[in-house]
Amino acid sequence: MINVEKLRQDFPILAQNVNEESLVYLDNAATTQMPDPILQTMKTYYHKDHANVHRGVHTLAQRATEKYETAREKVRQFIHANEIAEVLFTKGTTSSLNWLARSFGDRFINEGDEIVLSYMEHHSNIVPWQQLAKRKKAVLKYISLTEDGFLDMEDARRQITEKTAIVAIAHASNVLGVINPIAELTELVHKHQGVIVVDGAQAVPHMPVNVKELDVDFYAFSGHKMLGPTGIGVLYGKRYWLEQMEPVEFGGEMIDFVYLQESTWAELPWKFEAGTPNIAGGIGLGSAIGYLNEISLEEIYHHEKELIHYVLPRLEAIEGLTVYGPSEPVDHTGVIAFNLDGLHPHDLATALDMQGVAVRAGHHCAQPLLNYLDTMATARASFYLYNTKDDADRLIESIKEAKEFFRHGSF
Ligand code: PMP
Repeated sequence: MINVEKLRQDFPILAQNVNEESLVYLDNAATTQMPDPILQTMKTYYHKDHANVHRGVHTLAQRATEKYETAREKVRQFIHANEIAEVLFTKGTTSSLNWLARSFGDRFINEGDEIVLSYMEHHSNIVPWQQLAKRKKAVLKYISLTEDGFLDMEDARRQITEKTAIVAIAHASNVLGVINPIAELTELVHKHQGVIVVDGAQAVPHMPVNVKELDVDFYAFSGHKMLGPTGIGVLYGKRYWLEQMEPVEFGGEMIDFVYLQESTWAELPWKFEAGTPNIAGGIGLGSAIGYLNEISLEEIYHHEKELIHYVLPRLEAIEGLTVYGPSEPVDHTGVIAFNLDGLHPHDLATALDMQGVAVRAGHHCAQPLLNYLDTMATARASFYLYNTKDDADRLIESIKEAKEFFRHGSF
């Protein structure tokens, strides 16, 4: 069991008042907070080792390179990739998916090929594929969802065919909190000679992920959703594919030789990483992985599940409140979306903020999903390893207060 009380001492940001109430931070699906040990690792890097990586022979450059590449090795171990050649540092999930749609798409997608997404995708896992489909005259298709908000596997079996070139799918939804059966999908996609791309932004921070066991071709995620800093993320790809793909950006660091008319590329993974990278970000992500490993991803998964088990029936008991997604917290991360009848979610989120409770409201970068759910926007609470049942109680109480306020006009 996670010792949350002790762990929260690492997160001074959580121990503050907001609008004269103690902060309850429930916007972890957007960005998580950074604990002191990770900030300290990054500070030490800037205090002692800061220099450009890969090209310097002096001691600081060597230290910076070693720390940065050690972080890459930590990522490799964390997701169980075969080799560091398969671990590319990017700016985040969005840039990972854009690189992929550009690089893999330009090389392998042809007119009439089908790209299969689902209705629960984040815009980052829709728009790059739309752009690719336009460039190549490929066809976009969407797997539907069951009434409970799970991926409809029967529909997946109908949609994924010999024409399918790519299936790009979230591992976990950033709105419904559901976890998709990636191993099953991979088998289905590979049976039809397609390639599977997984948006792991909402999964890697919350549960153990093993890309080798899942046998996925590509897997993307972001550092800032797993206690790390912003501006750093990962694209995992099987060597077989990465070797055949062209870089998306060109310049320093990614070359082997540059002649006047031609150039050759560096080895994987550096072939894809043009220019000076986010060195402190990479080191911070490595440190975040160390922190998460010490607690264990299994523990984090169970902790979030317990909180969802606790909060879901209490939310559903509030009259006039609609919860989107499964009514039973099976295969669920710590994300939960809801609306209160007659109240715009922005108003609800503002009322919660007045009580110190930070949730998100809006379309959550998933407009096709919200259309599918027949709503313009929702409120969303997302729990993480440092949240408690007290936080869940505060959420429930503040929703009830907001409901009363908008009914009677006073807190
Ligand atoms: N996919 C999903 C499922 C997400 O939740 C997010 C972040 N909201 C992204 C992609 C994009 O991540 P980033 O903004 O870090 O690139």
